Amino acid sequence: MRPAQLRAAVGRRSKRHPATARRARLTASVVATTLTAGLAACGGSGAGSTAGGEESAPRVVATTTYAADFARAIGGDGIEVTQILRPGVDPHDYEPSPADLAAIADADLLIENGVGLESWLDDAISASGFDGTEVVMADGVTIRHPDDSEEAAAAEHDEHEGHEEGDPHIWHDPRNVKIMVGNIEKGLAAVDPESSAEYQANLATYRAKLGELDSETQREIDSIPVAHRKLVTNHDSFGYYVQRYGLEFVGSIIPSFDTSAELSGRSIDDIVGKIRASGAVAVFSESSLPPRTAQTIGSEAGVRVVSGEDALYADTLGPAGSAGATYLEAQRHNTDTIVDALR
Ligand SMILES: [Zn+2]
Repeated sequence: MRPAQLRAAVGRRSKRHPATARRARLTASVVATTLTAGLAACGGSGAGSTAGGEESAPRVVATTTYAADFARAIGGDGIEVTQILRPGVDPHDYEPSPADLAAIADADLLIENGVGLESWLDDAISASGFDGTEVVMADGVTIRHPDDSEEAAAAEHDEHEGHEEGDPHIWHDPRNVKIMVGNIEKGLAAVDPESSAEYQANLATYRAKLGELDSETQREIDSIPVAHRKLVTNHDSFGYYVQRYGLEFVGSIIPSFDTSAELSGRSIDDIVGKIRASGAVAVFSESSLPPRTAQTIGSEAGVRVVSGEDALYADTLGPAGSAGATYLEAQRHNTDTIVDALR
C-alpha cells in the first residue's frame, strides 16, 4: 500500500524536528532564489508574496491543471494558487523541478489528485520538508478497477507496475468532481477558517455548474445513434466518462491507465482489429500525447482520427485562451468533439 493511501483527505503532516524543518525551508528558499528568473519566465501564477493586508491568504499548491482549476473555483479571488503542472504536460510522467519543491515547502495547503496519478509526489513532499495540510481530491470517490468492466482484457497488456490502485482519471465524471471540490473546500476551510463561508458559497455555485454540465453532456451523448456510441482513445483515460454516459469503450492505443506503458506491435494490431470488429468510426487523440500512433492506427483501420485542435483534453487542461482552459470548457469541448465525430 502506498503512503498516499494512508493519508486522510485533509490531515496535517506531523511536525518535523524544528531544526530540521528550518534547514529544509532554508535550503528551499536558496533554491527558490536561484530559480526566480526561471519561474517568472514560465509565466506561472507563482508563489510570490501577496500584497500587504492579504497576508492571511493561504498559499495553495495544486499538482495538476485540474486540481488548480478546482482550487481557483472554490478559493475564489482571495487565494493564490501555484500550479505545478503546466497545460499540456503529462501528469503520469513528470520530474518536479527545484522550484516545484520550493513551492511545496512553502505551501499551507497542497492539493493532489491521488489514485497514483502523481507517482512523483511522495518523493517531492519528502524532499521539500512540506508540513502543511494535504488534500487528496479522490478521497471518497468510488475508484474504477480494470476488472470492473470489459477492460479486463486490456489490462492484461498493462505491464506497468503501480496501478493496483485503479483508474486515476476520476474527473471525467462530474459527479466525482462534486466530491473532489468538496474535499478542497474542507482543506481551504481548515487552513483559512475566516473565509469558510465564502468557500462554502463558491462550492455550492460550482456544484450547480457541475450538475448542469452533467445533464447537458448526457443529452448530447444521447443524440449519437446507439450503434455509433463507441470510443477509441490514446490511453485508458475516459473510463469514468464512458461509464457515466453510456458509451462503449472499444479500446485505446496505449491500453493502460498510464501513458508510459510500452506500445508493442501486437497491441497496435489488437486495437486495429477491435476498431474494425466494433464498427467504431473514429479514433480520438489526446491533447497531451503525440498523435502519430493514433494516425497510423486510424489509417490502418480506415477510420477518422480526431487530433490537433480537436484533440480531447484528457490528462491536462489547455492553456489560457484555448477551448480547454478550464474544466467546464474542456469537458464541453470533449463532448462536442465526440458528438460531432460520432453522430
Ligand atoms: Zn492518464
